[in-house]
Amino acid sequence: MSAEDEVNGNKILAESLLAQGVKYVFGIVGIPVIELSLAMQQAGLHFVGMRNEQAACYAAQTIGYLTKRPGVCLVVSGPGLLHALGGMANAQINCWPLLVIGGSCAQDHEGIGGFQECSQVDLARPYCKYSARPPGPTLIPTHVEKAVRLSIYGRPGVSYLDFPGNLLAQQVASSKVVYTAICPDPPLAWPDPALVRQAANLIMTAKRPLVIVGKGAAYAGAEGVVRDLVRTFNLPFLPTPMGKGVVDDNDIYCVSAARTTALQHADTILLLGARLNWILHFGRPPRFDPNVKIIQVDICAEELHNSIPAKVAIHADIGIFTRQLVLRLASQAWGFLSVSAWWGQLNSKIDKNKANIMKMIQDTRKPLNYYTTLHYIQETIPKDCIIVSEGANTMDIGRSILLNRLPKHRLDAGTFGTMGVGPGFAIAAALWCQVYAPGKRVICVEGDSAFGFSGMEVETMFRYKLPIIIIIVNNNGIYGGCDEETFQSIREEGEVTKVTPPTSLSTNVHYERMMDMFNIKGHFCIDIPQLQDALEQSLQVKDAPTIINVMINPSADRMPQDFAWLTESKL
Ligand code: ADP
Ligand code: MG
Repeated sequence: MSAEDEVNGNKILAESLLAQGVKYVFGIVGIPVIELSLAMQQAGLHFVGMRNEQAACYAAQTIGYLTKRPGVCLVVSGPGLLHALGGMANAQINCWPLLVIGGSCAQDHEGIGGFQECSQVDLARPYCKYSARPPGPTLIPTHVEKAVRLSIYGRPGVSYLDFPGNLLAQQVASSKVVYTAICPDPPLAWPDPALVRQAANLIMTAKRPLVIVGKGAAYAGAEGVVRDLVRTFNLPFLPTPMGKGVVDDNDIYCVSAARTTALQHADTILLLGARLNWILHFGRPPRFDPNVKIIQVDICAEELHNSIPAKVAIHADIGIFTRQLVLRLASQAWGFLSVSAWWGQLNSKIDKNKANIMKMIQDTRKPLNYYTTLHYIQETIPKDCIIVSEGANTMDIGRSILLNRLPKHRLDAGTFGTMGVGPGFAIAAALWCQVYAPGKRVICVEGDSAFGFSGMEVETMFRYKLPIIIIIVNNNGIYGGCDEETFQSIREEGEVTKVTPPTSLSTNVHYERMMDMFNIKGHFCIDIPQLQDALEQSLQVKDAPTIINVMINPSADRMPQDFAWLTESKL
């Protein structure tokens, strides 16, 4: 047999990924996957080298969410995979497709203390829908097809494939390789027509209906029909954090500014692609009416009736179901009246809450507060940009001030509340923009603590010429840190590890000077004119990241809320 008739595991794997529609690989190379990364590039895949596997994993899952085909995260054995587990859990819990590929210790070193030896298939399994090691090179394409298929069929999630070094290097006759065709896009589940009629009847008889739009509706690409539904039938809607933009946040039917009232008083809720988990207060009192009727639509049958029983439980794709519902409601010539008491109640609450926020925004005194800072960011950034956001207060307050016009244009800490996701999400989003929306900007609004988790990815952004604008809303700590004077007095007098508040970071840290590493000037801002100027300058930069470090009051906080978000116990 001549050498041309032989092929090794690296090449088979790279070509199988390409054949399954994978385009992007994010990772960090080392033994035993360096040759694999080269084979991937040779096959025509984009390889993005990152600085930490966790961030690589966040980037790969963003491609999955945006394109509905998985991005790949490539890691080395042992610690490489362990570092990626946080990212895998994040993708699995957010229901985003992801394929993780791990190099692992050669099989003839297993059990005798091989380099970075680790039971990787078992380790990955709790965070996966599918975790396996192909038994030999000839079956690699079969496993890759299955891994891709399981990541996108049913409820999307994570697949892991394990490749011992010897398997990647092994040569086999090309004729023996079992090549596999591309796995088709998943079939769309249609709703039972009887359930569509029941859902329509409930909505038509509701006095206080509400549509909740979750990130499942964004993933489904159902924006066209969901907009039709709320606009045609004058229905109030409430987006979840990443459901924002499926219908424009500026739409008059959006009741985000009266969130608490809408949830508490709705008598009928149409739940489109959101789980009744902590983000929606479990669907239970006191945040929801105890008698609320839920019409639940989900692609995952096992999700139906979770936390509270649904009145109508529909296993279907959101786009398809919503189209059927619109047709049904239209055939009944039904329209919900804007003069109804419900709209009156919601609108008066919206006006009151907006006036309260306005008071905060108008306060431009130094040091700045969150509301003013975020308001001027919103005023200056392009309205169709992708907003990546994380950090406790920065993300929570930013959710109501940074508006989304388009679906999948907000990426944040998500269902798992993971901090450190921002830079990885932003890198993938910026690469996605290059192909699907040239010129669109990615704005990464980070708390100072959140930025610290993955800040070194700025180098990755620079290397690949990604014009991401990183805005660090800096309050010297987690939730909030010390003022300068307190911080200095602790350092002078205290036993620092005993008295420095665990929530505090160093004060006035010049994160923008990380740009000096690339001979680019970052921006340090303490007032609104400086912030506006920095934003305008940053928007001119088209081939490199920028950092804008905005100092705010370390004791700035959220406005008082009717309910604490996370502190109330259900037990
Ligand atoms: P959010 O964070 O917006 O509240 P969740 O992640 O809790 O949203 O819920 C999203 C839900 O959407 C998941 O239960 C998932 O199974 C579901 N989902 C995803 N894609 C679709 C689809 N195409 N049609 C219906 N449901 C979907
Ligand atoms: Mg902070």
